[in-house]
Amino acid sequence: MNLKKRMMSLMVAGLMTAGLAACTTTPPTTTPAGTAAPTTTAVATTTPSTTPPATTAPTGEIKFKPGTYKGEAEGFHGPIKVEVTLSETAITDIKVEQTETEGVGDKAIESIVALIKSGTTLKVDAVSGATYSSKGILEAVTAALTSAGADIEALKNKTAGPGGTTGDVEKTTDVVIIGGGGAGLSAAMSAHENGAKVIVLEKMSRLGGNTIISGAAYNAADPKRQAALTMTDLEKKTVEGILEMTFDDAKVKTWQETLKQEWKEYTDSKKTTLFDSPSMHKLQTYLGGDKKGNPELIDVLCENTYPTIEWLEAKGMLFKDYIFTVLGGLWSRAHKPEKPLGTGFVQTYEDYIEKNKADIEVLLDTKAEDLVMEGGKIVGVIAQGKTGKVTVRASKGVIIATGGFGANVEMRNKYNTSLWPDLTNIKTTNHTGATGDGIAMAEKVNAGFTGMEYIQLLPMGDPETGSLSGNIEQGVQNRIFVNKEGKRFVDEGARRDVMTKALMEQTDSYMWVIVDKNSYPTGDTINNFNESIDDLVAAGRAFKGETLEELAGKIGVDPAAFVKSVEDFNKAVDGAKDEFGRTLFDKKLDTAPFYAGARVPTVHHTMGGITIDAQAHVLDQDGKAIPGLYAAGEVTGGIHGTNRLGGNALADINVFGRIAGQNAAGAK
Ligand code: ADP
Repeated sequence: MNLKKRMMSLMVAGLMTAGLAACTTTPPTTTPAGTAAPTTTAVATTTPSTTPPATTAPTGEIKFKPGTYKGEAEGFHGPIKVEVTLSETAITDIKVEQTETEGVGDKAIESIVALIKSGTTLKVDAVSGATYSSKGILEAVTAALTSAGADIEALKNKTAGPGGTTGDVEKTTDVVIIGGGGAGLSAAMSAHENGAKVIVLEKMSRLGGNTIISGAAYNAADPKRQAALTMTDLEKKTVEGILEMTFDDAKVKTWQETLKQEWKEYTDSKKTTLFDSPSMHKLQTYLGGDKKGNPELIDVLCENTYPTIEWLEAKGMLFKDYIFTVLGGLWSRAHKPEKPLGTGFVQTYEDYIEKNKADIEVLLDTKAEDLVMEGGKIVGVIAQGKTGKVTVRASKGVIIATGGFGANVEMRNKYNTSLWPDLTNIKTTNHTGATGDGIAMAEKVNAGFTGMEYIQLLPMGDPETGSLSGNIEQGVQNRIFVNKEGKRFVDEGARRDVMTKALMEQTDSYMWVIVDKNSYPTGDTINNFNESIDDLVAAGRAFKGETLEELAGKIGVDPAAFVKSVEDFNKAVDGAKDEFGRTLFDKKLDTAPFYAGARVPTVHHTMGGITIDAQAHVLDQDGKAIPGLYAAGEVTGGIHGTNRLGGNALADINVFGRIAGQNAAGAK
């Protein structure tokens, strides 16, 4: 493994550790009462005091000998050298020379230096996923301070909150955003672009939420990139099947009319490239959620998803130039970021924030607990910081972007009515912070909720951790699933809920993903988690066989049944009818080496949440907008119906984050 890959793996491993702990998260003491609306009216928090905002408390008793001092320590790639300048009472400057990994180690150093300086403290946590760089910078600064004769013990024990504060904090701004994942940070960019000053409250000590550890596939009809793909006969049948359906909803009928027109133009043109359009995406999203999604919201999602790609690209986001079909995505319209997982998205948001830090402030380790309501309008947020209460008043609006509740076992059991068996012992792909806090806050101000019972599981969890790491699939077309008996059991191109339910019926709810050399042309080809197939095999997390029989022996399935499963699949690739009705094919599984990786069901996404309108206003239980309050991302409900299509989450959080930011800033 080269150094860059080693660093990325380290980062991913760090992120996964965060995800791992999710299974043991203690649910919050306040849990919402659910879709069944509480009869009481808003339990709004009282007005904050009228004292002037944003006071930074004094730095405490620590005294320094003014001057500039040097220190050095080992980072991940080599030495980290610092020059620390001290006044009598504060660390006024830290200059750093380092060669850490771009986008990971250097970012960790930046944020740690900012915390050391703002708090005049050495009590700063390592950044998850960049442990060596974090340790290196802390040691280098400690060395410099030691040579200055500073009281290191006192500095290591000094707790400082946001901006170096040591007590309660009050701040004012235009827009407050609760949650620094994809929805919150795209909202921050958008609110700022529309003229607002912004404060983001994030309860964890890093930004990114579930977004940074997601597969990060982003759906959008994209004629340019999709032009490289060929339309198959089975895909034509899928379009024709949708055109033959009957719909009741007036808006959905208009989508079907548009699709009919587009399909005619396409067939008249005799094109052979893959057909797609926002209407096709809308209809598949609606059907994929069993017609339970709100057509108004689906319309906004699918109309804006491609323009939002362009918006992100203009800010530096890089996507690969090919399109793929993501697990449960049903169509080849998923865009893959250049960087692994969701790191490219988060990097883009962070770069924007860094460039505009005069107007966008991020408060980490700051957990929002209550919305402030005055005269029926939301005017601020009360949070708990490291050293006390943080009250932020917002002159324009508050956006809830706290993500889902997949890591909150108590909440998911409460809302999981009938769709799934008991979810207590099912692991999750989520980070530990996905505990549904936004639901609890919104409930206290009488917000409405939609579809809380719709919880998404994937059939793709690591058997040990539930995470997506170690997943060897490279898109839907070129892999099959077999059970412990070596037999296929489902259409592997189906909806996520369909595949997971089928998996739950197999022995031990356990399956193997099977791919061949087409997916991994070389041993150092990486999966979506930056893990090479050779490394996965060496770690015993994937298995390799030069023949199908050898692979069957290694994974302990009946060789005859296994070989027959692959042969039957290959016949379907050649045009025979697939026994499970699969429609998404590309190449046969016929080129050694063959690989297998084990997978189990895992909780992934919560489709239900706060009811919003197409402008991202939060609606109350009577369907009326709550003034000053917006929501975006996984915390909202109503877009995806019973089942979210793979690749629609990153689109949703960016599209609706952008809209929420724009509207909260008062642009509309
Ligand atoms: P989305 O995809 O909707 O953006 P994410 O899970 O990526 O969701 O991000 C949600 C973010 O909100 C996470 O970083 C999470 O830690 C943060 N968060 C959750 N609850 C709170 C809270 N009470 N206060 C501040 N931040 C929160």
